[in-house]
Amino acid sequence: MKLIDHIRDIKDFPTPGILFKDITPLLGNKTAFAKAAQELLELIGDQQIDKVVGVESRGFFFGGVLAEKLNAGFVPVRKPGKLPHTTVSQTYALEYGTDTLEIHKDAIQPGDKVLVHDDVLATGGTAQAVVKLIEALGGEVVQCNFLIELSFLSGKEKLQGQDIKAVITY
Ligand code: IMP
Repeated sequence: MKLIDHIRDIKDFPTPGILFKDITPLLGNKTAFAKAAQELLELIGDQQIDKVVGVESRGFFFGGVLAEKLNAGFVPVRKPGKLPHTTVSQTYALEYGTDTLEIHKDAIQPGDKVLVHDDVLATGGTAQAVVKLIEALGGEVVQCNFLIELSFLSGKEKLQGQDIKAVITY
């Protein structure tokens, strides 16, 4: 069974010209879901992780699973206005305009070893903003961990100095 067979290309979503990788078939297949979780876990090896940070919203599916398997806590990074307690925020550039992400200020303690997880690494702007949030709170990013890397968008260039790993690379 190949994970890649459970990822669907959607043309012109969410905007014309984008070929969107849709992971919902993978999520809905029990064998593919378990295999993806296992392969994401294997990317980390035996490194100690205190917190898994998952990025809204598709980073939540496997972020929680990884936290449980790693005996770590789970921390959500969310879009503005979604987190109820005191937050720190980071604004980053998109192709057109900007976007902002937030994290609870007390979610990471100084010295925490943190795994960043999201479904897709595209241009790297999102992951770069998440790394900045974690470092602003004194956390140490051990790895940026993705189900999919779209390598033709060169996201790694924005994450220099980080350990970047993905299960599937296009
Ligand atoms: P980046 O900031 O350009 O690296 O985009 C990464 C963010 O956009 C991640 O949070 C992804 O969930 C989302 N994303 C970008 N491209 C895709 C895609 O093809 N499929 C699913 N999510 C995507």
